[in-house]
Amino acid sequence: MLVPETFFAERTSLLKASEIRQLLKWVADGGIISFGGGMPSPSTFPRQQIIEIITEGISEHGDKLLQYGTTQGLKELRSELKSFMEWKGISVPSIDNILVLSGSQQGLDLFGKVFIDEGDVVLMELPTYLAAINTFKAYNPEFVGLKMDDDGIIMHSLESILKELQSKHKKLKFLYTVPTCQNPTGVTLSMERRKHLLELASEYDFLIIEDDPYSLILYEPIDVTPLKSMDAEGRVIHLSTFSKILSPGLRLGWVVADDRLIEKFVLAKQGMDLCTSPLLQYIAYGALERKVIHENLIKIRALYKTKRDKMLEALETYFPEGCKWTTPIGGLFIFAWLPEKVNTKELIQDCIKKHKIAYVPGQSFFVDRSGTNTMRLNFSYPAMDEIEEGIKRLGQAIKERL
Ligand SMILES: *Cc1c(COP(=O)(O)O)cnc(C)c1O
Repeated sequence: MLVPETFFAERTSLLKASEIRQLLKWVADGGIISFGGGMPSPSTFPRQQIIEIITEGISEHGDKLLQYGTTQGLKELRSELKSFMEWKGISVPSIDNILVLSGSQQGLDLFGKVFIDEGDVVLMELPTYLAAINTFKAYNPEFVGLKMDDDGIIMHSLESILKELQSKHKKLKFLYTVPTCQNPTGVTLSMERRKHLLELASEYDFLIIEDDPYSLILYEPIDVTPLKSMDAEGRVIHLSTFSKILSPGLRLGWVVADDRLIEKFVLAKQGMDLCTSPLLQYIAYGALERKVIHENLIKIRALYKTKRDKMLEALETYFPEGCKWTTPIGGLFIFAWLPEKVNTKELIQDCIKKHKIAYVPGQSFFVDRSGTNTMRLNFSYPAMDEIEEGIKRLGQAIKERL
């Protein structure tokens, strides 16, 4: 009889199912209001323009777009991305500083492959993006968690961690951060701390991975100058994606970095997929070139701002005393802390079965497994009336546990 375990490589024991995906499976059963996913609203997908771009692309450039492409990505797209990055304040010396990715998810795996030897220290925010934790985990680093407050990573706490690592001669590779409208908290790193972070990176010699899907989805006029634009030493690797500004189904992202880093990323990407689909890249190119994305952003911001405000108002009305939550300036998420005694992994059972409401229990976002009383709430996907009704039910479920 076949015993599959004997065939698996040891490293597969490090692969973990995302708790969110598991959860979304139950929610798909229907009748449940979900604040669980991290999906854009389908109403923001520019369907008609995408049809036009793809039709034109195939009829005029079919030979190229239906063929294998270069690993680094379509030149036309990288050239549009260079301008797009410059519009965001990041100066890109050449299109060779850009690598197109099959989703920023591919970038995370590339960074794991290229940087992490077993036992290397990787610094992560507490809490942080779950897919980054799970992806890096497969390379077996030592995660060190960084405390945050409403302005992002707390610098004196980071500094004492860096001192300690240095005294133990531990090899620190990189700090992974989502500095703007973080997933899962919605918190934004203040400008003062951005500068301080870059100084520390230089002093203690480590790389910074700046994962930035949200800095163009802001609801307040706040300065969120990317770390990459203040990076004089080439230490910042800027990762971004079309998922939240165009469509996640296209699976398109990109990375901007020092060319010596890009060269290694290209080699690693070759082994993953040879190249990102040229046809899909052409859609992103067309959407940038025709300013479809720029126009779409205006619509996205207006829609999500209304949803954010609705959720904040409902939280104020329906959540019991002793709960607190973040007020994000953009992005897709609000993060909430319940009274200590409420375990959100237990609460979710009542929520799904009895109250027909879902969220993501916060613990899996913490590399130190703290946060047992926390939850992530998504406001971009649910409809307006679902936001009010869902938060009302959630408030009721929490009250029953107090
Ligand atoms: C949504 C999101 C992404 C997007 O990942 P893709 O693979 O490009 O779809 C990346 N990072 C963070 C922090 C996100 O929230």
